[in-house]
Amino acid sequence: MDAEIVSIGTELLRGEVIDTNASYLASQLPLLGIDLYRVTQVGDERGRLVEIFRQAWRRSQLLLTTGGLGPTEDDLTREALSEMLGEELKVDPTLEQGLRGLFALWGREMPSHNIKQATLIPSAQAIPNPRGTAPGWWVEKEGKIVIAMPGPPKEMRRMWEKEVSPRLSQQVKGEIIISRTLKTYSLTEAEVDELVSRSSSPVEIGIYAKPDGIHLRLIARAPKQEEAEERIQQGEACLRQILTGHIWGVDDDTLEGVVGTLLADGGLTLATMESYTGGLLAATLSDAPRSCAYYNGGLVAPPKETSIALGVEAQLLSQYGATSLEVALAMATAARQRLEANIGIGVSGEDAVFIAVEDGRRNRTYHGNYPSSYPEAKRRATIAALFKLRCLLLSPD
Ligand code: AMP
Ligand code: MG
Repeated sequence: MDAEIVSIGTELLRGEVIDTNASYLASQLPLLGIDLYRVTQVGDERGRLVEIFRQAWRRSQLLLTTGGLGPTEDDLTREALSEMLGEELKVDPTLEQGLRGLFALWGREMPSHNIKQATLIPSAQAIPNPRGTAPGWWVEKEGKIVIAMPGPPKEMRRMWEKEVSPRLSQQVKGEIIISRTLKTYSLTEAEVDELVSRSSSPVEIGIYAKPDGIHLRLIARAPKQEEAEERIQQGEACLRQILTGHIWGVDDDTLEGVVGTLLADGGLTLATMESYTGGLLAATLSDAPRSCAYYNGGLVAPPKETSIALGVEAQLLSQYGATSLEVALAMATAARQRLEANIGIGVSGEDAVFIAVEDGRRNRTYHGNYPSSYPEAKRRATIAALFKLRCLLLSPD
């Protein structure tokens, strides 16, 4: 089945709102075996909406729209669909009753503009939207499907997951498409590309550079779910062999989640002291679920006085300066001892970053110089610190 997405809203064209609805839907369609060929963004202007809908209707079997279902005058998706399909808009009594009931529940008078959210055309069925006032539309006509969903991402995603995707999966008999992402580190995009080009993996492979390493997206297509799964497993096994030692995670794995699991599984605790990253390392570590089980805490120290107060020797600071491995190591040790943890991380530096991870017996260190803006440099240093932690956790005693 060929599909296209039309994202509706002038705010998208002005760059004020990022079209996350389209990227979400684009990531979901392959799971149903639906091929997406186009994504269009169009402003809140009736003539252009009708024109885009006409083109989409002519060339695609499935048209998904998001946005333009609000109560205001610039929300014109219903009007444009009714014009494109040549069907009259009418208030549906059941929808109207539901809408009025919702406002009564909130103890508010329903504004007269909201009544358009209760309208349908004869070939449209309403799709429930418990997260908002705008029901979606499911239109089937001449063997084609048009699905109109609301713009707010929370409403759209719920509608997709609970209503649209289950119903579409019954109607579509395309190939099953399964994907898997393998996340690597310490290799460049070109190196990954070269290694992968020598493989005979039975899957399509996309290579993307991300802040936490090079990601490989494997895509397997087959008529049946089991075949696609088997193919993806073969592809993964083949790539794991080639990239041995470089893969740190799959799919939704995060670096903080991966090191968190290693710490929790090993019954180990962690403490951090950071100046260069200004608390970003602590914030990132605490993003992982159940981090309080192993993360004893983080100290955010500007280079001198506070570091000394927190246990870094004043003499080290004057001898080596904050931009040194010696001070990063002393920060890691001070954090570990102060917060009674098994492992400490210290992140120091000014122009360049110095990172140390130590457990009282062993240490791993890193220094880097990032030509990027400071917020970006902090993000990269945080990732580097997490990789060094992972490295220490995976090293044999
Ligand atoms: P709507 O009233 O249905 O046109 O959408 C209302 C709100 O949903 C907009 O103000 C945006 O904040 C959000 N929104 C609309 N379209 C998108 C989109 N394609 N991606 C992300 N957010 C969107
Ligand atoms: Mg809108």
